[in-house]
Amino acid sequence: MKTDYNLKSKETISNKNTSYRNFPMVPRVIFGKGSFSQLGEILLPKRRSSEAPFIFLVDDFFEDHQLAQKVPLMFKDELIFISALEEPKTQQVDALVARIREQFDELPSGIVGIGGGTLLDLAKAVAIMLNNEGLAQDYQGWDLVDRPSVYHVGVPTISGTGAEVSRTTVLLGPEKKLGINSDFTTFDQVVLDPDLTLTVPKEQWFYTGMDCFIHCIESLNGTYLNAFSKSYGEKALELCKEVFLTDISEEESRDQLMMASWHGGMSIAYSQVGIAHAMSYGLSYLLGTKHGIGNCLVFQHLGEFYPEGVHLFKQMLEKQNIQMPKGICANLTQSDFDTMVHVALGMEPLWENALGPDWRSIMTPERLQELYAKI
Ligand code: NAD
Ligand code: ZN
Repeated sequence: MKTDYNLKSKETISNKNTSYRNFPMVPRVIFGKGSFSQLGEILLPKRRSSEAPFIFLVDDFFEDHQLAQKVPLMFKDELIFISALEEPKTQQVDALVARIREQFDELPSGIVGIGGGTLLDLAKAVAIMLNNEGLAQDYQGWDLVDRPSVYHVGVPTISGTGAEVSRTTVLLGPEKKLGINSDFTTFDQVVLDPDLTLTVPKEQWFYTGMDCFIHCIESLNGTYLNAFSKSYGEKALELCKEVFLTDISEEESRDQLMMASWHGGMSIAYSQVGIAHAMSYGLSYLLGTKHGIGNCLVFQHLGEFYPEGVHLFKQMLEKQNIQMPKGICANLTQSDFDTMVHVALGMEPLWENALGPDWRSIMTPERLQELYAKI
């Protein structure tokens, strides 16, 4: 099994003998309370014909919610509700693509993902696969996508992952959890409406928000850090501190966290995440632990690597009165630990970013198991 975040290796950005990577950015973004109501007019010029629908992939949390009524359906558009209880899978992407191809004679005018990281990643992957042959698993990796994806739009309803800006879509395939990293993955349009996050439950708000905080800490303390990443990471960190450690109004907090997520995502786009993410992938692979909470479960024990970050994290936990689950790894067997350690250590660029080129001598399997055992 292989896992990835964004970049292949340090060389891609810092070795003078190789060229610098030329990253795509989201070309259009609309921000503001209530901006979702403009989605219809944004999509209108992108409609190729009444036969080429927009497909809206929406988190099923919104099934009985007024947001579902506000989705600007026209002609043959289709609204598909999808559960975000499990992280997205390659087979799920293939099934959606097959369903859309079967149902419509024409290629859709576009795909719109409305939800958290799970729905955003699904929308990106479906948009890619509608225009490319084969199965989603064939494209897990770096720059394997041949043809541009269909027009796709991301509408986050929870803030933190940075999936709205990234050039990856993280999918669980039959053999590996690995992203489709490509220039065609990035959204063509993003709608940032902080009001869409009004209904997020407190704990989920905290865990997904901490994904952003941890992106900042891991990027800012990594060996891959550069001025590009630093500028975004510092801004995102400042916003996270305001959101989680001060008493700003809820409205301001929703705005700030949405922008923190964006900047945090931009920061790791040109650097890399670190130890918490590598270990969280191990937890997710073995126990199905979701990304946000998995990062938090690990991060609380990483004081020796990220002293300031962990100190801040503990202050945030206390200020927000969040009780983290305990004893997650209490009853695991040696073989379970071996699996997690194997998965986590497989994420080489993350370790290299966190600990430098000699990371293998610093993070031995034994030391990693000791860290897991604390969770
Ligand atoms: P999520 O999409 O998994 O959703 C978490 C929960 O919040 C779900 O129960 C969902 O129904 C609920 N929810 C979402 N919006 C809500 C709202 N407005 N009101 C009430 N409930 C709401 O959450 P996430 O943490 O945003 O995403 C995690 C996923 O993102 C993982 O699959 C992870 O791999 C992926 N991810 C991707 C990237 C990337 O760059 N592509 C980066 C980080 C994480
Ligand atoms: Zn993350």
